[in-house]
Amino acid sequence: MKCRRCKKQAVVALPGHNTAFCAECYLLFFKRQVEKAIKDHKLLTQKDKILVAISGGKDSLALAWQLANLGYDVTGLHIDLAIPGSSEQARELTTSFCKNFNIELKILEIKNEGLAIPEVKKRIRRPICSVCGQIKRYFFNKFALDHGFTVLATGHNLDDEVARLFSNTLRWDTAHLSDQGPLLPAENGFVRKVKPLYRLTEFETANLCYLVGIEYGFAPCPYSTGASFTYYKRLLEELEFKQPGRKLQFYEGFLNRGQKGFKLLEQKQGQELTPCPECGYPTSEELCGICRIKKVMEKI
Ligand code: SF4
Ligand SMILES: [Zn+2]
Ligand SMILES: [Zn+2]
Repeated sequence: MKCRRCKKQAVVALPGHNTAFCAECYLLFFKRQVEKAIKDHKLLTQKDKILVAISGGKDSLALAWQLANLGYDVTGLHIDLAIPGSSEQARELTTSFCKNFNIELKILEIKNEGLAIPEVKKRIRRPICSVCGQIKRYFFNKFALDHGFTVLATGHNLDDEVARLFSNTLRWDTAHLSDQGPLLPAENGFVRKVKPLYRLTEFETANLCYLVGIEYGFAPCPYSTGASFTYYKRLLEELEFKQPGRKLQFYEGFLNRGQKGFKLLEQKQGQELTPCPECGYPTSEELCGICRIKKVMEKI
């Protein structure tokens, strides 16, 4: 197979884009997909001070690498979740990646907040991944606001986004459908959030890491049930195999034609948010979710 751009031997085939590329042209393809996402949805400017959430997985590392490579002002934030058998490796991979590619890195140790995930798992009677996700979202947002970052970038890829859209649609979850997308503008108490990799699949980010020489995490979290969206991802993969390009069309179609309607619907039904009296995080309850978890953790 030949590279579509330069006609050299191709190293990667992309049926979704009906094409194949050599290594050099693949990097150009990847860069252009990120640039298109940024341009189409006005995600970032060169003046932005960007905080990239880096887990040590392929997507967040590929994102940090690509944004730094495009000349953006990028700092990584890694949250050490204190999970035995996975957090240590994730932290090491993140640290050596940032050192190798000269990207500034901050590390937040969640145990210093009294929220080490294994301890939270023992005390909070909810699925741990939902609590862990809530804790991560809270601290990424808080860190960005406290340290003057203008935007938080996360490595969600097309497969993540399409599986989430499919799941939200199956449940007609209008609240989540109204704010799903690559851009969540800043609001009182929330920093702007962007997903510049939304046009690229898991395979494509893994391929970027391979070609650039980025080593990424393999030790899975011991609490992962593998359930979150995995079945939907498989279904959508089958669809993509039969109809290449369908995932991106489905997602872009939602952004261009579906999302506005859900936004209008939610504005009508919108819940009022007020600052949490303990920490200032926007909440519709008396105390925000994280302060409530902290209260449970403080009880002996
Ligand atoms: S698998 Fe669940 S508990 Fe483990 S890091 Fe991910 S969200 Fe947290
Ligand atoms: Zn080429
Ligand atoms: Zn709070």
